[in-house]
Amino acid sequence: MKIGDILKRGVFSVSFEFFPPKTPEGERQLFETIEHLRRLKPTFVSVTYGAGGSTRDRTRNIVKRIHEETELTVMAHLTCIAHTKEELIDILKDYRDIGIENILALRGDVPHDKPDFRPPEGACRYAVDLVRLIRSEFGDHFSVGVASYPEGHPESPNMEWEVRFFKEKVSAGADFSITQMFFDNSYYYEFLELCSKAGIDIPIIPGIMPITNFKQIKKFASMCGATIPQSLIDRMEPVENDPKEVAKIGVEFAIKQCEDLLHNGVPGLHFYTLNRSKATLEIYEAIKDLIPARVR
Ligand code: FAD
Repeated sequence: MKIGDILKRGVFSVSFEFFPPKTPEGERQLFETIEHLRRLKPTFVSVTYGAGGSTRDRTRNIVKRIHEETELTVMAHLTCIAHTKEELIDILKDYRDIGIENILALRGDVPHDKPDFRPPEGACRYAVDLVRLIRSEFGDHFSVGVASYPEGHPESPNMEWEVRFFKEKVSAGADFSITQMFFDNSYYYEFLELCSKAGIDIPIIPGIMPITNFKQIKKFASMCGATIPQSLIDRMEPVENDPKEVAKIGVEFAIKQCEDLLHNGVPGLHFYTLNRSKATLEIYEAIKDLIPARVR
């Protein structure tokens, strides 16, 4: 089922993001997580794509397994920066042929271990080029999602720039967007206002990162420019070596964050699960009565 069509019907979306594991044990654990989370009847689940195409086969195989072995709607992330157009078309043809209808179209980042990296000749330089490629080669076969950044992408000099290039992705045919993680909802609300003023009318689903490892999240957050509120740092830092306490505070924080988002009429919630179900299940249990009915 196409995510864009589901969202157009005004269905509230709950979704979970996974990454393709490197080992058979990691894959077993992922499918155990999926087994737990599918009981929540997510609108869709998504599988990330490694920087520079490093997980091309693994992402494809996990997407295929979820599609074939469960009833879940699955979206494949695809980054364009390191692929030629021909490679991207081959990857997309394969997804079409195995029955996948949803793609998160991303630029991706230059691999850290390849400072001399140059995109291949004629490559898609930005995510918008991938959205255009999908629409020109595959018409409406895929529902296309794109990333958005309530606090601005680290390469964007200001929010005006951010919204301008986000709008280009929407004009090129994106059906919906998922945001970068954020911990202060005011950035998201301000971003929605800027988008609305710019005439962007696709659903912008907030990405929620339940904190279970504070040191790791501090690193992620500083890399992607997400502000961690001082009040949360003050609670987390004294206990950052105590995984149980960190997870307890992280879940409490995410519950409050989701409650506020739900009170403000968000179109859905996308959880970055890091392939674990516990925190997401606890958050969902606490907010489930606030979630609008989800009949497709
Ligand atoms: P773009 O939309 O192309 O934007 C990148 C930067 O370029 C922005 O600053 C934008 O303003 C600017 N820009 C865009 N168009 C132009 C133009 N024409 N001229 C000048 N500047 C321009 N990464 C992965 O490797 N794998 C994943 O699976 C993955 N999943 C993600 C999922 C979500 C929900 C999010 C939010 C991010 C994800 N990322 C993933 C990270 C993403 O690849 C990086 O943030 C990357 O740096 C930017 O990708 P993008 O698609 O947002 O790029």
